[in-house]
Amino acid sequence: MITIQNVKYMSDFEAKKAIIDIGKRMYIKGFVAANDGNISCKVGPNTIWATPTGVSKGFMTPDMLVKIDLTNGKVIMGNRKPSSELKMHLRVYEENPEVMAVTHAHPMVATSFAIAGISLDRAVLPEAVVQLGSVPIAHYATPGTQEVPDSIAPYCKTHNGVLLANHGALSWGKDVFEAFYRLESIEYYATILMYIGRIIGQANELSCNQVDDLINIRQKLGISSGGIPPCTLNATNTQDVVSSVPSPKPEVQLAGVTPLVRPGKASEGQDIGCGCTGRVIQPPTAAADTGKTKEEIICEVVKRVTEQISSGNK
Ligand SMILES: [Zn+2]
Repeated sequence: MITIQNVKYMSDFEAKKAIIDIGKRMYIKGFVAANDGNISCKVGPNTIWATPTGVSKGFMTPDMLVKIDLTNGKVIMGNRKPSSELKMHLRVYEENPEVMAVTHAHPMVATSFAIAGISLDRAVLPEAVVQLGSVPIAHYATPGTQEVPDSIAPYCKTHNGVLLANHGALSWGKDVFEAFYRLESIEYYATILMYIGRIIGQANELSCNQVDDLINIRQKLGISSGGIPPCTLNATNTQDVVSSVPSPKPEVQLAGVTPLVRPGKASEGQDIGCGCTGRVIQPPTAAADTGKTKEEIICEVVKRVTEQISSGNK
């Protein structure tokens, strides 16, 4: 480690070794396919080491990495080109000077949530709440364009990672290991959410304009084969998704009447009995939704199950 202006940074050697090590883990865990993903690590107030474009993260050697000047994004050491996704990394460092490393990959479950437009913000796992917090989805942006860094900018100071709509996951931390552990936690948390019932079953498909932009990029890369997939007319991934938890139904307020506060129920910003303030989400009661009593619903369920069993026995 080296200290510059009272801030500790990894040395060039340590940073390159760590990036290669994390790249192998990323590849072995199946977070990336082919040459996907990228990793960067700060080694001074204005310098980072980063992965180049066009190499598998599982098979990198120190000579492949590039040293970048954060002030202008130019390569100052190394003879390869940086990834076009480096713009995202530069933006995280710019928005949050405390960040020392950034990792990006396309882990399967988290990316599926990013495609479905479902943010990771269910309070179901203490580790996830403490170490990760909620993980919003930044709205869709064409990979490689300036829109991508713009889409993640609002979250760089307030969150530890973000899903990129129809793309993947991005995380950051005080060193390259913390950034990668957060990426691992994002995928772990997404997998738990999937197992507990969010078997996804929905997807925001790319719009025809978004597909057109990608076909243009493909042509510029000299790729003339591959066909064009069907697309939707209107883009459905243009909004950020900060919370996928359904809001409780609004209560009718009568003018001039003080609202009733029920036991166990707090309004926005009120102490909810744990010394904290926040939104309390009441589970919807079936009886309230259907207008039937609990006993009537149980009778109905027993009746239907009995009917199904007897029809299955015929
Ligand atoms: Zn990517």
